[in-house]
Amino acid sequence: MKIGILSVQGAFIEHEHMLSSLGAETFEIRQLKDIEQPFDGLIIPGGESTVQGKLLREFGLFEPIRQKIIDGLPVFGTCAGLILLAERIENDERTHLATMDITAVRNAYGRQLGSFNTEAEFSGIGNIPMTFIRAPFIESVGNNVKILATVNEKIVAASQGNQLVTAFHPELTVSTDVHSYFLNMVKNSK
Ligand code: GLN
Repeated sequence: MKIGILSVQGAFIEHEHMLSSLGAETFEIRQLKDIEQPFDGLIIPGGESTVQGKLLREFGLFEPIRQKIIDGLPVFGTCAGLILLAERIENDERTHLATMDITAVRNAYGRQLGSFNTEAEFSGIGNIPMTFIRAPFIESVGNNVKILATVNEKIVAASQGNQLVTAFHPELTVSTDVHSYFLNMVKNSK
């Protein structure tokens, strides 16, 4: 199984390490030629969604990646990745890939509470540690979206078909469960 990790900005190395520890092959996506090879899944990491969106456009990656997701490529977006996939962003005029029927709120916990660790139930996995860094949450979801986790009554993980998003950073915790969950999605999509 080969997973491409968008590596134009943000916390991509941690995803690489976690996926490698689970036996998946990974490669970094920085330019158009990187996605010419066949691959089975895509990670959009945390970082700064506005910067990643801008770089995706500048590097000519935006449309090809968007098309692959629409065509069914399994994708896992964490934090900024969630924002990039959201069809609607409550407090930003721009949207980016906009492939998932969710409304995201950026920097949703305010400055003081923006970064915290907690533990909560993730549907189908159980209790896992969750690390939030100036995180978004999901304010509302469309009919085809499955809610996978909530923290303080806010949605922090969801899926829709081939797309999985978390507002938190599982790659910064000791638990590999969410990455295994994604690799299962990739396996089942074949
Ligand atoms: N605050 C960032 C944004 O709006 C997301 C933070 C993160 O990915 N850790 O894009």
